[in-house]
Amino acid sequence: MKDEKNPAQELKEKLFAQPKHAALRMSDEEIASAFEWCEGYKSFLDENRTEREITAFSQKLAESRGFEKFDSSKKYSAGDKVWFNVKEKAIILAVFGTRPLSDGVKIAAAHIDSPRLDVKPNPLYEDCEIALLKTHYYGGIKKYQWPTVPLSLHGVIVKADGEKLTVSIGDRDGEPQFVITDLLPHLDSTMGERKASQVIKGEELNILVGSLPFRSDEGSDLVKLNIMKLLNEKYGITESDFLSAELELVPAARVSDIGFDRSLIGGYGHDDRVCAYPALMAALDCPTPSYTTVTVLTDKEEIGSVGATGMQARYFENAMAELIALTTPAYSELTLRRALRACRMLSCDVSAGFDPLYASAFEKKNAALMGHGVCYNKFTGSRGKSGSNDANAEYMAQLRATLEKHEVAFQTA
Ligand code: MN
Repeated sequence: MKDEKNPAQELKEKLFAQPKHAALRMSDEEIASAFEWCEGYKSFLDENRTEREITAFSQKLAESRGFEKFDSSKKYSAGDKVWFNVKEKAIILAVFGTRPLSDGVKIAAAHIDSPRLDVKPNPLYEDCEIALLKTHYYGGIKKYQWPTVPLSLHGVIVKADGEKLTVSIGDRDGEPQFVITDLLPHLDSTMGERKASQVIKGEELNILVGSLPFRSDEGSDLVKLNIMKLLNEKYGITESDFLSAELELVPAARVSDIGFDRSLIGGYGHDDRVCAYPALMAALDCPTPSYTTVTVLTDKEEIGSVGATGMQARYFENAMAELIALTTPAYSELTLRRALRACRMLSCDVSAGFDPLYASAFEKKNAALMGHGVCYNKFTGSRGKSGSNDANAEYMAQLRATLEKHEVAFQTA
């Protein structure tokens, strides 16, 4: 009797989904190679903290792997690789396939902008001999998380004559960092009465940048003057040059492993570089495909995909038109639209992993679990699926079949 399976158990194994931690389905070698692969991701996060830095890094790496700048006067054939740089804040990588472009392309898109504090156009002021920079937060931040955290400053300053200066201060050993101050505990009774969302207000996210006065017996704003003097000596800029700058403050902390078992990675910008990095690596490693592959690393997702470098712009369609114009003799608007209609795309972004400390925020049966593999969302949206996309069941079936065939650990949420 003992050897015989309970018929209910037997039927369950046949009919029920069997979710399992990926580590329980992998060999020691596979686990070791996954950890090793993540070392590349960790240095990608450490070395690139803004959309501009990721765009430059991706272009350079792609060039070292045989990609070249798209050139409409050239002829391309299967296996050729090109890049399109979108105003230095987004990049498209394409690997030409053996099938005609009119059959559509396979697209993976991820965003490379992350929440941060942007320096305002008139940022620098002095108050009681403390110099500060005013910021405008970018994307969905939890404002209370930003005070007391060491920050680094990244971006560009473009002078009126077009000269472009690249700024990166605070990530390398010996460089100064920046900070938003907090109030010491025995003075913060009024702060304690504020609502959680108001503990730190947007207008209080000002960055401490100096406290030494320019040595003079008279005059006001001497600390601010001393800061401008330093900036002028280092970059040759004056206060007006902030008007044509894009300077971003981001957490300066280095990426580290989390946990005794090092199973997690702690760092700034996982959303959405955790998708952008694998998409980039896949593009670089792509052997000559049958359908042309297109990898889009885009900007401005955090604020609604707006602007010239966000997905609401037409740069992706423009790149498709360029590709089709050069490989399809009878180019027309209709050819382009047919090709776009035939495209398949994965829109890649993060999903929340179930956290037992905040269990009530999740629906346990449909939440993503740590270690259970890549997460696919058939649909997103809130309330009545508002703002959702909702992939077709037919498409989900094709995707699932591919993942199952190649034994990829995946889940849905
Ligand atoms: Mn995201």
